[in-house]
Amino acid sequence: MAAQHYDAVVIGAGQAGVPLSQALARSGRRTALIEREHVGGTCINEGCTPTKTMVASAKAAYIDRRSADYGVHDGPVTVDMREVRRRKREIVDSFRNSNLGRIEATEGLDLIAGEASFTGPRTLAVRTNDGEALEIGADNVFINTGARPANPPIEGLDNVPALNSTSIMELGELPEHLLVLGGSYVGLEFAQMFRRFGSEVTIVQRGGQLMGREDPDIAEAVAEILREDGIEVLLGTPTLRAAQSDAGKILLTVDTSEGERTLSGSHLLVAAGRPPNTETLNLDAAGIESDQRDFIEANEILETSVPGVYALGDVKGGRPLPTSPTTTSASSAPICSRAEASPPRIARSPTPCSQIRS
Ligand SMILES: Cc1cc2nc3c(=O)[nH]c(=O)nc-3n(C[C@H](O)[C@H](O)[C@H](O)COP(=O)(O)OP(=O)(O)OC[C@H]3O[C@@H](n4cnc5c(N)ncnc54)[C@H](O)[C@@H]3O)c2cc1C
Repeated sequence: MAAQHYDAVVIGAGQAGVPLSQALARSGRRTALIEREHVGGTCINEGCTPTKTMVASAKAAYIDRRSADYGVHDGPVTVDMREVRRRKREIVDSFRNSNLGRIEATEGLDLIAGEASFTGPRTLAVRTNDGEALEIGADNVFINTGARPANPPIEGLDNVPALNSTSIMELGELPEHLLVLGGSYVGLEFAQMFRRFGSEVTIVQRGGQLMGREDPDIAEAVAEILREDGIEVLLGTPTLRAAQSDAGKILLTVDTSEGERTLSGSHLLVAAGRPPNTETLNLDAAGIESDQRDFIEANEILETSVPGVYALGDVKGGRPLPTSPTTTSASSAPICSRAEASPPRIARSPTPCSQIRS
């Protein structure tokens, strides 16, 4: 067990953690970036980047299928999901590798491949991916551990082969009929994508509108667009149980206004929210407070209940700041401002805030 001390430690190499760790290192602070899986976090590996490459493929299929409307005639459209997947993997690999290259080229920044958990307010135990145990302390700790797909407590769901937002992008075949459990952004993106690839799609949404936090008129307009594409959208429809038929079909029993109905699909995507990755952080050992849904509580400069420990990105509770373009760039800027204003906890930064924004 080796004890090391850093000026700053960032846990999680996600959208916020990578640029922040680089900015901290460039400003002369000895910095460690701890990542248990792959650099780039959700956005590059399982979120924004792969979905947008697949959305582009789906759009190509959609336009091609409609080409006759524009007076352009060619043969029937076929979609090869293995080729779609290969293109997606290549783009993700190239983004991840360029991220990794930039991290490795940053002087004063140590990338540690492993999982971190708190042992005290600003001390961490790290189990490296090579099986080594490290003990790390820091003047400031930045938690950027993100979120993961939820596993809702629905009877029978654990016994059916359900896909999540990560595994659905690894399919090598086109679902004949995709059932989508959850009508928020992630579910809707995949619903439209797979409809455009050529699947039959049914969305099952428990709430009375799609995208629960959205204005009702916007949500209704989105539902109309999806229905025009041929997607069945069920609103106000809780799922009661899941099962698999002898023929391998996935059966979802749902509660509609007209009574129980059993939907049958070839594949099921569960897109029912994203709880924060706090369960392995051992927040109690540090005295870091979280809310009822386990998101870390932080003030307007993203400092947690423990001085010198900050929470950034999806792991942080509450909504993004109103003036901020994204959650993650919102995270870096106020911390940097604080860094410049508060010499005792983070020494004055020679890097202006404008340069730290992601
Ligand atoms: C399917 C999908 C599509 C999306 N599309 C978009 C989009 O188009 N545009 C957009 O703005 N957003 C999109 N998002 C959301 C976006 O991906 C997230 O908001 C963003 O990645 C959050 O960044 P983050 O920095 O909070 O954490 P993340 O990017 O999730 O990074 C957290 C990192 O921390 C690591 N980690 C966790 N716990 C530990 C630990 N204990 N020790 C060490 N490492 C740890 C994880 O391995 C991970 O790499 C999408 C999300 C999904 C799921």
